[in-house]
Amino acid sequence: MKKMSIWLEEKDNSPINILDRDLNVDILIIGAGITGMSLAYQLKDEKLNICVVDANLVGQGLTARTTGKLTYLQGITYSKLLKDKGLDSSKLYLESQIEAIKEVEKIITKEKISCDLEKTSSYLYSGTPNKIKELKKEKEILEKFGIKVNELTGKDFYSIYVSDTAVFHPLKYVYALKKICCKKKINIYEKTKITDIKLIKNLYKCQANNNIIYAKKVIIACHYPFFLLPMFLPIKTNNEQSYIMAYKTKVNEHKSFISVDKQTKSYRFHDNYKIVLSNSHMIANHLNRKENYLELINDIGKFYPDYIWSNDDLLTIDNLPYIGKIKNNLFIATGYNTWGMTNATIASKILKDLILDKPNKYEELFAISRTISFKDLKNSVVDMYDNAKGFIENKLFPNKTWYKNITFTRKNNLPLATIHDENGEHTIINRCPHMKCSLIYNQFENVWECPCHASKFDIDGNCLKGPSKKNISYKE
Ligand SMILES: Cc1cc2nc3c(=O)[nH]c(=O)nc-3n(C[C@H](O)[C@H](O)[C@H](O)COP(=O)(O)OP(=O)(O)OC[C@H]3O[C@@H](n4cnc5c(N)ncnc54)[C@H](O)[C@@H]3O)c2cc1C
Repeated sequence: MKKMSIWLEEKDNSPINILDRDLNVDILIIGAGITGMSLAYQLKDEKLNICVVDANLVGQGLTARTTGKLTYLQGITYSKLLKDKGLDSSKLYLESQIEAIKEVEKIITKEKISCDLEKTSSYLYSGTPNKIKELKKEKEILEKFGIKVNELTGKDFYSIYVSDTAVFHPLKYVYALKKICCKKKINIYEKTKITDIKLIKNLYKCQANNNIIYAKKVIIACHYPFFLLPMFLPIKTNNEQSYIMAYKTKVNEHKSFISVDKQTKSYRFHDNYKIVLSNSHMIANHLNRKENYLELINDIGKFYPDYIWSNDDLLTIDNLPYIGKIKNNLFIATGYNTWGMTNATIASKILKDLILDKPNKYEELFAISRTISFKDLKNSVVDMYDNAKGFIENKLFPNKTWYKNITFTRKNNLPLATIHDENGEHTIINRCPHMKCSLIYNQFENVWECPCHASKFDIDGNCLKGPSKKNISYKE
């Protein structure tokens, strides 16, 4: 069993280019996941000096850990949007997702990208009467919007499905976008972390490792932005984590599925593997991550996973992503509610228009400044309470009974945690530099995780994933 995403078997053999000097650019894109690379691709033919930077390697963030579905059937989405935002917004969101799928297909065809794109039907299913009722409502709404929706009834389940959706290999796709952008003289710097952005006169001064990038326009495409104000993201979003595995199967059904029951299950096929997702939870809950993995393995019974991994994404309180202008010449795209393959693609088209001062029909729908309803806020408070419970529990009782070989101490007023293993002692500061949350140790992946905003650190405290900008290593 490999503790890694199946997509990471695909290697990017191009050399790693690390920033080693100051730069002056028109456009700086921070983050080279599907969001950053899709935007770079959209802008590649403009007469602009563009630079993309990534703290890690191209595509190795969330994008390397998805299930890689390209679908507009995303759970009970359109009924919710219709109820909360009205008919026009619900329909417009549907249009955006369909446009995104077509855009990915268009790019793949035009650029002759080999990324295992396969047209598959998407199914939503349930076995519980109230959820079946919701599925029937969802079908009705989609049909009202002109979509042909089929249904399938089994002995103990009901499902609805559409046929014009797809699956692909997300990393092969992103690597191909990188290659195309490099040919178009877009500079892509990996292992180059942005740690500060300041607006000075009309230029953004961005600290990138030990260098400065001066940019006229900056796009935050790094999933969870490392600066918070003025977007109030911690109030408007929540991180959800899920567990995924891939195991060999003789039957490739050429379909993808999601249950809409309380505990989401999702699966698709890739080559001779079945990819299964389950056990989703808010990141501040279910803190014994090893147990969550073991539950997933138990779930598939007689099969044994060849690959197993987890992923987390930002859920917004009104189920729509945040794509657009923050202020001045600062833009963002995030909060994809676990539908980043389509939303990153549509984000790239929207942001291209906004950067070029052109209108875009989705601008208002996804605007950062959109009003939040009282109901959304109420739900957010409930989620925050839920998260706070996990946070406080973790703060008060960091020394979990399931931890083996970890000691928790205080020195110089710092909370420390030391792991003892065959290589000796590994001491870290048990406090996330981002918002000072206590960390949990994921004993399955051997990483420290922040249960507030999903930063990750290795056993020696090196930051593997933001929003934290700093390491938590401790030296006497
Ligand atoms: C379990 C799960 C399954 C999913 N399955 C699907 C699916 O089937 N279909 C679908 O449409 N979506 C799916 N998603 C959602 C999708 O994975 C994400 O929404 C999408 O990958 C986000 O892409 P991104 O480019 O915004 O972020 P990322 O891929 O995380 O890219 C952000 C990049 O920014 C870099 N970065 C961070 N901070 C800095 C910094 N300070 N300086 C420089 N670089 C920085 C990171 O290194 C990273 O490479 C799933 C999500 C989850 C949790």
